[in-house]
Amino acid sequence: MIRPICRMGNPILRVVASDVKLGDINSDSFSQLVLDLKDSMKHYGGIGIAAPQIGVSLKVCIIELEEFNRYGQEINLPFTVFINPVIEVINPEEAGYWEGCLSVPGLRGFVQRPQHIRVTYLNEFGKKQVLEAQGFLATVVQHELDHLFGNLYVDRIKDSRLLSYQEEFDQFIKVPSSIE
Ligand code: ZN
Repeated sequence: MIRPICRMGNPILRVVASDVKLGDINSDSFSQLVLDLKDSMKHYGGIGIAAPQIGVSLKVCIIELEEFNRYGQEINLPFTVFINPVIEVINPEEAGYWEGCLSVPGLRGFVQRPQHIRVTYLNEFGKKQVLEAQGFLATVVQHELDHLFGNLYVDRIKDSRLLSYQEEFDQFIKVPSSIE
């Protein structure tokens, strides 16, 4: 089911979400939450979405980047459910990308983040998984995990001049060769 998106200003986006209880992962209501996340992500055209964005304060987010090409990087992450994820920075060296967010519609902002990370999480079957990510994928993962801890990408913009409306971004900033 497609759910409405909570936008910046909604306090649910600003609290640390609760851990999912292990016994709940196999429940019908949890399966429905994952389906709702998927339906909503597809409907609104995101590459990831987190449960607080559809009004559920639980540590769950999803990402799907199949045969995705951006910034000259080939990324292939099939549909992945991250439950109770814990992030670890492998290389703190930062790289910057222009980010957008379904909860902050119409805007793009340039954010620098560590570019090599490791995430430990449970998948939708309750199985422990480890994902190492670099480059743009590392940024996408950090963006989604931020939602589970009450953070938005706009908090991480170091230079507020690098915040733009999407249309002005397309008109003045976007470099066709480097940004899809
Ligand atoms: Zn977001």
